[in-house]
Amino acid sequence: MARSGPGFVDTPRVNPVKLAVAERKGSFHEIYRVFAKPAGSAQASRCAGCGVPFCQSACPLQNDIPGWLSLASEGRYEEAWRLAASTSALPEICGRICPQDRLCEGACVLEQSGWEGVTIGSVEKWLGDMAFESGWVEPIRPEAELGLSVGIIGAGPAGLAAADRLRGLGYRIAVYDRHDRPGGLLTYGIPGFKLEKHVVERRTRRLAEGGVEFVLDFEVGTDATLDDLRQRHDAVLIATGVYQARRLAAPGSGSRGVAAALDYLITSNRLGFGEAPEGFASGRLNAEGKRVVVLGGGDTAMDCVRTAVRQGAASVTCLYRRDRANMPGSRREVEHAEEEGVTFQWLAQPKAILGDAETVTGVRAARMQLAAPDLNGRRGVEELPGVEFTADADLLIEALGFEPEDLPVLFKAEALQTRADGTLQTPLQKGRRSLMTSIPGVFAAGDIVRGASLVVWAVRDGQDAAVEIDAWLQANASEPRLLRGAA
Ligand SMILES: Cc1cc2nc3c(=O)[nH]c(=O)nc-3n(C[C@H](O)[C@H](O)[C@H](O)COP(=O)(O)OP(=O)(O)OC[C@H]3O[C@@H](n4cnc5c(N)ncnc54)[C@H](O)[C@@H]3O)c2cc1C
Ligand code: SF4
Repeated sequence: MARSGPGFVDTPRVNPVKLAVAERKGSFHEIYRVFAKPAGSAQASRCAGCGVPFCQSACPLQNDIPGWLSLASEGRYEEAWRLAASTSALPEICGRICPQDRLCEGACVLEQSGWEGVTIGSVEKWLGDMAFESGWVEPIRPEAELGLSVGIIGAGPAGLAAADRLRGLGYRIAVYDRHDRPGGLLTYGIPGFKLEKHVVERRTRRLAEGGVEFVLDFEVGTDATLDDLRQRHDAVLIATGVYQARRLAAPGSGSRGVAAALDYLITSNRLGFGEAPEGFASGRLNAEGKRVVVLGGGDTAMDCVRTAVRQGAASVTCLYRRDRANMPGSRREVEHAEEEGVTFQWLAQPKAILGDAETVTGVRAARMQLAAPDLNGRRGVEELPGVEFTADADLLIEALGFEPEDLPVLFKAEALQTRADGTLQTPLQKGRRSLMTSIPGVFAAGDIVRGASLVVWAVRDGQDAAVEIDAWLQANASEPRLLRGAA
């Protein structure tokens, strides 16, 4: 469908069809369908082709968004997808789960000027799915095998993006992961209603078919030390994410009845793979028929409340200490949760977990109010003296964020330097940003460097690390046959 100019003047912003709430509540399928071709092209044609594309600057991958929107609007779908894939190893995944309202779409000039931003994420997802269905996503075929190997610890988005790029350059790649499936949080954290698992599987299958070796059920720290892997490979990338759950420091919080968010989500995802996880079978991590209370206001909390709805909870309440405007999770996810019947208690700070050592019966919380802005203009919260309430619960889930594990201890690698918050230190190299750690030849990417962040940033780091690892290996290769471009 060719157009002569930007369509935003006569074409309103339309999202792909969203499943009705009743249908969503009983299903772990993605809640949005994919555009049909005419609708996708029409939405892409809304791009105004601004001289300064703020959407591109706001995208962590600096995707050439106006470029692929323009191609898609002209029906040049394969070219559009190739352009999207040139800067992103996982475009159809980012199109699904990026918080676009805070990134590309939030910065879209149309959004800023009252015309409603372009549906960039949905177009990216549509093109990405079309590419798989049309056979445009080819197996990885390196021009030459270099004979150098890279070991990647962690098969999440950072590790997968690095594996994709490095394998394409001809390196032998082994990806180690302590889980039995690759994908990291894409597989075991994020629920299917945001990202269906076959979308992740077709990506990891393509990597395996292209020669990437996945070494699963392999925990670095237990099955090998970092030094063992450093001996085995010419370079190593640490992309282990952050997994130490922050816990509530309040009376009763040690009760076995309190569930950790990731345990709950992993159990639910395993169930989706057709397994019978113990936590679900015993009822401990099954929300069916229960009054569920989730503590926290981030993406993880939103995933827990919406999972509980789908498991048939009697009621689902989310307690968060700040207000709606200051919650860290995506606004879009809060709206979905509210549509699905979740109750939000904003400005509510848990003070005590009620029940006994084995069972939880509820949570007592203080009512908070916004405090005066600090020097940066940010408003904190303070307790409203004497105003407390109780939320009854049969299942209480803590979703208060994650911190890094102690990798130097876990990996038996004292030379691995960390920052005060436990993330890996990546010192400047020759005055420039680098992803090499304090150990030469050992690089790091994703949440373990940034702290809990986003998939798109993990992809960016993985891709950047691949460039840096390639440059480092090429500079340090001892034999000419290992160099790219050598005969
Ligand atoms: C519930 C939840 C929902 C989220 N929703 C969104 C969202 O909607 N959109 C978004 O952009 N971001 C979301 N995020 C954040 C996003 O998932 C992460 O930022 C991203 O996955 C980080 O990628 P990573 O590759 O650094 O780490 P991860 O995805 O965590 O992968 C790390 C991998 O390393 C493996 N590993 C760890 N230690 C070892 C070891 N010692 N040996 C071997 N393997 C090891 C782990 O098993 C894991 O597979 C969410 C996070 C959570 C927890
Ligand atoms: S990767 Fe994320 S931020 Fe970038 S264009 Fe795609 S959806 Fe937007």
